[in-house]
Amino acid sequence: MRYERSSALFKAAQSVIPGGVNSPVRAFQAVGGTPIFVDHAKGAYLYDEDGNRLIDYISSWGPMLLGHAFEPVILAVKERVDKGTSYGMPTELETQIAELALSMIPNMDQIRMVNSGTEACMSAVRLARGYTGREKLIKFAGCYHGHSDAFLIQAGSGAVTFGAPSSPGVTKGTAQDTLLASYNDLESVAQHFEHHPEAIAAIIVEPIAGNMGCIPPQKGFLEGLRSLCDQYGSLLLFDEVMTGFRLAPGGAQERLGIQADIATYGKVLGGGLPVGAFAARNEIMAQLAPLGPVYQAGTLSGNPLAMAAGHAMLAHLAHHPEVFQSLDHKTEQLHLGMDSLLQPKRIPHQINRFGSMLSLHFTEQAVVDFQSAALGNNAHFKAYFHGMLDRGVYLPPSAFESYFLNDALSERDITYTLTAFDDWLKTI
Ligand SMILES: *Cc1c(COP(=O)(O)O)cnc(C)c1O
Repeated sequence: MRYERSSALFKAAQSVIPGGVNSPVRAFQAVGGTPIFVDHAKGAYLYDEDGNRLIDYISSWGPMLLGHAFEPVILAVKERVDKGTSYGMPTELETQIAELALSMIPNMDQIRMVNSGTEACMSAVRLARGYTGREKLIKFAGCYHGHSDAFLIQAGSGAVTFGAPSSPGVTKGTAQDTLLASYNDLESVAQHFEHHPEAIAAIIVEPIAGNMGCIPPQKGFLEGLRSLCDQYGSLLLFDEVMTGFRLAPGGAQERLGIQADIATYGKVLGGGLPVGAFAARNEIMAQLAPLGPVYQAGTLSGNPLAMAAGHAMLAHLAHHPEVFQSLDHKTEQLHLGMDSLLQPKRIPHQINRFGSMLSLHFTEQAVVDFQSAALGNNAHFKAYFHGMLDRGVYLPPSAFESYFLNDALSERDITYTLTAFDDWLKTI
């Protein structure tokens, strides 16, 4: 395949956009080569600027659960756009999507719309702090909650320590309030509570981690977080930006049967338009402006086009719960197929899967946290990524990203993907 036009477009982009992209992973730094510029997309396929058709396994990093240019979403946006694109005043549509979302999400009374997952998590943490009157936050190494300051923290020495900023521009003060723990390691969390029994406002966690590859929670991990929060009077904050409306209508809370105190959403919720949201019970939401003192606002929050797209998306999911089984089945087929092709080759590998999320790590050890995810062989991963791209399959351009399957993928697409994988395996 050739990427002449993508190459030229990337070059032009680099002179006016830092790194040529508006979000770093798109720049292909982990895999090398030229980022693919998209012309359009439909169903399971991306069509790039060089005229190649690619089978898409990232689905815009999650939102396109039903495939690209999904007809009901496109129609809803088209119908709405002639009425104007933003008012800075309330619309009935906002109540409709809130009612629908809350009917799907377990355990929550109210929801506030924002414009991105980052904003949702940032606002949810402020609300947790305001509600509890506490300042500290526990987060897990390798979990991503958007790019707001409090979340850009990594371990100093060892996992259980005060955080040190992992990006210039994040102050030491902010870093000190973020306590870092290891995913799937309850002991690392318990220690923080022992040291700060009355200072921790919340634990923020991806109930199924998806930003260090896909890492499912081990049995008892999330249950343990729930009881630590109950014991110490902290809030359990599920970041469902990735898992919400993807793993089940009610996301990970429903799928795993664990109740969070606050949950954040994004991605699927917007049907491909910029939307985030956070939801909680009445007594917590009562702290939020204009009801309470915790401030949060947005000029474009509840934007009518975004709400129309999101409502069409959720309405389809609410009426077609079979979508979730179908996605699980396709992901399982891909998993089993890849596994059976890899076994005879004796290539050390781990495939992690939960629902329609999956990742392949070239490592011998089980991948259960950030440390084990980081052991993967990146040379293998690069060759694999480009080998599949050359065969028309677009995978996440980083070993630390999960695949997000979409329901437009057909059996034939999966079979083709496995054939391409087999073909690539023969070259190594
Ligand atoms: C994508 C993501 C975010 C950030 O959402 P943006 O819309 O990119 O700001 C937060 N948390 C999780 C778990 C995510 O996957």
